[in-house]
Amino acid sequence: MRLRHAAVTDIGLARESNEDGYLASPPLFAVADGMGGHQSGDVASQTALETLTRELQNGGDLAAAVRTANSEIHQRARTQPELAGMGTTITAMIAGPKITDIVHVGDSRAYLFRDGNLRRLTVDHTVVERMVREGKLRPEEAQHHPQRAYLERALGVDPDVDVDSYQVETAPGDRILLCTDGLTSMVDEVVIRDLLADESDPGRASQRLVETAVAAGGSDNITVVVIDYPEEAAAESSKRSRKIRWRKPPRIALLALGVAVALAVSLFTARTVALSRWYVGSDGGRVVVLRGVHGFIDSVEERTDIPVDSLPGNYRDRLVQGISATSRDDAKRIVSNLREIQADLNGQGGAP
Ligand code: MG
Repeated sequence: MRLRHAAVTDIGLARESNEDGYLASPPLFAVADGMGGHQSGDVASQTALETLTRELQNGGDLAAAVRTANSEIHQRARTQPELAGMGTTITAMIAGPKITDIVHVGDSRAYLFRDGNLRRLTVDHTVVERMVREGKLRPEEAQHHPQRAYLERALGVDPDVDVDSYQVETAPGDRILLCTDGLTSMVDEVVIRDLLADESDPGRASQRLVETAVAAGGSDNITVVVIDYPEEAAAESSKRSRKIRWRKPPRIALLALGVAVALAVSLFTARTVALSRWYVGSDGGRVVVLRGVHGFIDSVEERTDIPVDSLPGNYRDRLVQGISATSRDDAKRIVSNLREIQADLNGQGGAP
């Protein structure tokens, strides 16, 4: 598979150094956003990227490589006083023609751009994003929240780290964007989407994304990597699998196909079992609780009487994408928060 790709990093307007880093050696791509005093953030992000490269060259698994990077950064931060407290985010992927592996810790992001739609693939490990997910904060409040940069997870902070792993179904013509928060804290997703739609060349797209963040006053380091999957090579099987859409309501045929695909993948790697996830989403205009293997299929586990139209616009958008939950109970909590928001909004002070 011949990928077209480009990467751009920029120091931004208010930093003394660029502590972001990226990897672009197909099929491996990554961004890392380092943090720490005296430019130790740069050591953290570079250590993460170098460890990832080395471990994968030695035949390691992507998530295991991230855990090894965590140990190395943590160890160095503990033993070298000038590096104390350093850490980094990591969002990395191995591109495949049908399945792309993504691993993620922190608040850098991966997006899938397909058929003119932009879908975020990763969850920010920030206090603010958790509050949004729990319905305690509105999405529009989150982007400019003063504590939006407070990370709940980063590499190097603790001896062990939880690594999010996803397997995403990819199709010909897909475009994936990896970026640090220097982009997403300055540029709205709608603008990112339009820009990705406008610029078919990955180099121009990357450049314009960074320029847009700087023009918006981007004070932080900004890094983007754009990866384009080839349009051709549309084998029969990939044409079929392309019909499985993230947003599609569940249907029996799709479900059967999804189960078959999930089963095939789980035979391929036992890790898939851990990727079974809960979401709150929409079906038939109502809020529903969904379960699925990330990127493949969703099955409706529970229906509610909450009309999606009765919720604020940003929640509607998020429901269409699916709000991820850590468990069934977590999904239920999100639903009850949505119910409260709906009741507040409609001035009922509580649903009957
Ligand atoms: Mg940053």
